[in-house]
Amino acid sequence: MLVLVLNAGSSSLKYSVRRFDPDQSLNGGVKIAKGIVEQIGAGDVADHLQAFDIVRGELAEALGGCTVDAVGHRVVHGGERFTSPALIDNEIIRAIEQLNELAPLHNPPGVQCLRAATRAWPNVPQVAVFDTTFHRTLPEAAWRYALPDELYRRYGIRRYGFHGTSVEYVGQRAAALLGVPWEKFNGVIAHLGNGASVTAVNQGRSVDTSMGFTPLEGLVMGTRSGDVDPGVLVFLLRKGYDAEKLDNLLNRNSGFKALAGHNDMRTITEAAANGNEEAELALETAAHRLARYIGGYHVACAGAQAVVLTGGIGENSAPFRARLLAKLGPLGISLDAAANEDATGVEEGLCISAPESTIPVLVIPTDEERAIAEATLALVGAP
Ligand code: AMP
Repeated sequence: MLVLVLNAGSSSLKYSVRRFDPDQSLNGGVKIAKGIVEQIGAGDVADHLQAFDIVRGELAEALGGCTVDAVGHRVVHGGERFTSPALIDNEIIRAIEQLNELAPLHNPPGVQCLRAATRAWPNVPQVAVFDTTFHRTLPEAAWRYALPDELYRRYGIRRYGFHGTSVEYVGQRAAALLGVPWEKFNGVIAHLGNGASVTAVNQGRSVDTSMGFTPLEGLVMGTRSGDVDPGVLVFLLRKGYDAEKLDNLLNRNSGFKALAGHNDMRTITEAAANGNEEAELALETAAHRLARYIGGYHVACAGAQAVVLTGGIGENSAPFRARLLAKLGPLGISLDAAANEDATGVEEGLCISAPESTIPVLVIPTDEERAIAEATLALVGAP
């Protein structure tokens, strides 16, 4: 059985195909094809529909005469309606489209690909897997903003949380590594990529998370500000900023890009090591905020059995991890420097904290596409 996963980002379209054999159950299958179309909207590829046609062409070549048996789509925002992966039909696509307003950068490309794929393969079952779903268990005290209820009722303004597919996947792997059943696992899980968030997990359920109404709240990210006093926005509106300008500022021209002039962790770390003060300050600001969240979420999850790091930075940047762990001493955490260096690029997941640490810190590579393929298969029926 062949499962195609489509992951539409704001300017990219990633795909992968996995083969699941009947005797393998849900062990991730075997990846037999993958690819990416980038710079959508900026280069030769005008939009996600054109990107989809390119992917379709590449798939036809890669799979020969074979066709896929199911398609899993990553959808960023599932709102309050989608509390589990959904089998796609026209009504579901329209319901997802109604959420576009909540995630204008991320949801519309996903919807375009949903439409294109159901048109291209009308008889193939297709499933939407949402970044928000894992956070459906947030208690109201964690998802409420202290704003008038009318804003929630009229516009759905509340905290939703994102990166859920990744967080659940690495969380389950962390629990397995520790020999703890997932339903008994408490932990703090940080997904640190270009977008970054932290989640508090209590008994296998999300109980707090740093991204909110949009994927803008929380940590210092590649080009996103994370937390800022909302008073700053009011101030800037009075200075003549409009919605477009604020959106550009907060989503595309803030974070590491604003602080260090660059959003690639490798470049920033290298610059800091060479004495660049802006780069040094950017790393300190990001690590300070992350450490503060981890401390808070240790409380929110009722005592973490592990801190888990994943995403491009979490998995690969030993210097950033060392900087972070240096700030977690008050939690009883200390670094195993040799293990931290070893962990770079590991496949299985490794412990980078010293044996005497009260809470182990684990580096676990995420695989959102594998998780989406498995969720798709779970819904359409195993081979
Ligand atoms: P992601 O969004 O998960 O792909 O993560 C992107 C981030 O990971 C960028 O900030 C990259 O600079 C960072 N990253 C990827 N590979 C490495 C590496 N080998 N060392 C340090 N940072 C890395």
